[in-house]
Amino acid sequence: MTEKLVEEIRRRLPITELRENEPLAAYTSLRIGGPAALMLFPKSAGEIAALCLIMAAVGERPLMLGNGSNVLAPDEGLDRAVIVTSRVISCSVDGEQIAAECGASLTKLAAAAAAEGLSGLEFAYGIPGTVGGALVMNAGAYGGEMKDVVIKTDYLRICDDNIDIFSVEGEEHGFSYRASRFGPEDVILKTRMRLKEGRPEEIRKKMKDLMSRRRASQPLELPSAGSAFKRPAGGYAAELIERAGLKGFSVGGAKVSEKHAGFIVNSGGARSGDVLRLMEHIRETVLARFGVELQPEIKILS
Ligand SMILES: Cc1cc2nc3c(=O)[nH]c(=O)nc-3n(C[C@H](O)[C@H](O)[C@H](O)COP(=O)(O)OP(=O)(O)OC[C@H]3O[C@@H](n4cnc5c(N)ncnc54)[C@H](O)[C@@H]3O)c2cc1C
Repeated sequence: MTEKLVEEIRRRLPITELRENEPLAAYTSLRIGGPAALMLFPKSAGEIAALCLIMAAVGERPLMLGNGSNVLAPDEGLDRAVIVTSRVISCSVDGEQIAAECGASLTKLAAAAAAEGLSGLEFAYGIPGTVGGALVMNAGAYGGEMKDVVIKTDYLRICDDNIDIFSVEGEEHGFSYRASRFGPEDVILKTRMRLKEGRPEEIRKKMKDLMSRRRASQPLELPSAGSAFKRPAGGYAAELIERAGLKGFSVGGAKVSEKHAGFIVNSGGARSGDVLRLMEHIRETVLARFGVELQPEIKILS
């Protein structure tokens, strides 16, 4: 199947860079993951749509990957076509609105907004993801989240041998804490955000302060995928994990960060199975100690 897909892409969309058996570890912030059968590097939302159309015709479904900063990829790799969006980065400012393609970096977007004197994206400065990944997760930090700024999103779904393109606005995004309406079958193309006028120096100061707080509290010097678990009702996962005595606990190369117990870090040579076993151990321990069932925030790719 993949051979046929490669052949069709080379024939119908030769501008798309493709790589076979490309290691996922190089594209994930945990630095874990075996080869993806096919990795595709489009440069625009239109090129993503064209790729999906070709995939639809040969019965394939893409796995979307932004900066890979919220995922765990399996050591055995994936026998799938992965569309990496990190080159799909165009964005434009129109008054108080910013339109961005799915691969635009949140941090760069926040910096661009600040330069235009637009406030609202400060929270996103320092989140190492793309717009697409952030929409799926309703990414957020320090009291802000994507829900506060996103007004319209275009996405597509493969349907039989064709694609359907949709537009959703406002509440149709279905945003809630670290969740949205977007699932694995959705391919986010671009989004539009509404910000508000602010003073560039104040916006930059807030971003700088938030980045300092991040540096002080998070293990940014080691590979991780951010918080491993979602915040449970009425508490913080990191606090429960720490109180359970798991700070520094490790399975193989996967370790509960000494700096922030909510993060699992790759302390060297971690395998995907190490991370999964560590996550399971944390869940069981926290459940037994506090009766709280932690839900993973990291997406396990398959
Ligand atoms: C050090 C560190 C700090 C972090 N801090 C925060 C934080 O403060 N707040 C927070 O919310 N998160 C945080 N994260 C997690 C992560 O950066 C965010 O969730 C980010 O939004 C993920 O974006 P991404 O592009 O890396 O997504 P990926 O990890 O590439 O993908 C995440 C999911 O989205 C899907 N996806 C990606 N792009 C698309 C697309 N175009 N269409 C459809 N589906 C898509 C993927 O298939 C996957 O299921 C942190 C991570 C790290 C490593």
